[in-house]
Amino acid sequence: MYDVLMGGEERALRDEVRRFVKEEVPPELIKEMDMGQVEYPREFVKRLGEQGLLGVRFPKEFGGRGLPWTAEIWALEEMGVLGTSLSCAFAMPSIVGEALVRFGTPQQKERYLKPMLAGELVAAEALTEPRGGSDFFGATTTARMEGNHYLLNGQKRFIVGAQGADFFFVYARTNPDASGQRALSAFIIERGMGVEVKKVYGLMGTRGEEQGGLSSIM
Ligand SMILES: Cc1cc2nc3c(=O)[nH]c(=O)nc-3n(C[C@H](O)[C@H](O)[C@H](O)COP(=O)(O)OP(=O)(O)OC[C@H]3O[C@@H](n4cnc5c(N)ncnc54)[C@H](O)[C@@H]3O)c2cc1C
Repeated sequence: MYDVLMGGEERALRDEVRRFVKEEVPPELIKEMDMGQVEYPREFVKRLGEQGLLGVRFPKEFGGRGLPWTAEIWALEEMGVLGTSLSCAFAMPSIVGEALVRFGTPQQKERYLKPMLAGELVAAEALTEPRGGSDFFGATTTARMEGNHYLLNGQKRFIVGAQGADFFFVYARTNPDASGQRALSAFIIERGMGVEVKKVYGLMGTRGEEQGGLSSIM
């Protein structure tokens, strides 16, 4: 229906993703996810990475395709046929990748961004807290400098893919006196760094990614 709005590259990507969705995602995976039998669809993400379908709008040097935002949205629309869980798994490298591409150091891009876009590392974004999610700048998780490292303390919830994540992109309050976005910083926290991931309860939708609460006392 929207074909007329697409450029040639976007149409080619749309067709590629449509084929992937139809031919490379076993229907059993969706059923098993719905029944809560899959902790994280890692193989699905790995295959997306192998085919260069993660973070397609990012520069090629990081594993993207250098396509426009609109191309990625067309791709996401095709993924939507698979439901919110697999679509979230597809979109998450893009969400976390945006911050890494814009603000990451060269070392962070090597260590996290490139393997994530290759489907080798799984990331989760941890923003929402038990106190609520829509008031983003009211986050209460704190990060305090101790010596040469930060100590984070707080809880997150509704974190899609938390069970499968190798690292977390966590927002925490670093400046108690500041307001709005100036109060917060973003941290990359690897799974082993004192993070406790718990599945608190199941959801009616977005099943099979075992979204979990995320406690962090580091
Ligand atoms: C399937 C799923 C996946 C998710 N994945 C992630 C993820 O990967 N990472 C992550 O960080 N978060 C994730 N979230 C959390 C999501 O971002 C939050 O659900 C969202 O921000 C809303 O927060 P809340 O559910 O806590 O609602 P609340 O913030 O508690 O709000 C509840 C209601 O009150 C209203 N409200 C809030 N404040 C006010 C006010 N001051 N005045 C009037 N009305 C108000 C809101 O509009 C809303 O209708 C996920 C959620 C779901 C359901």
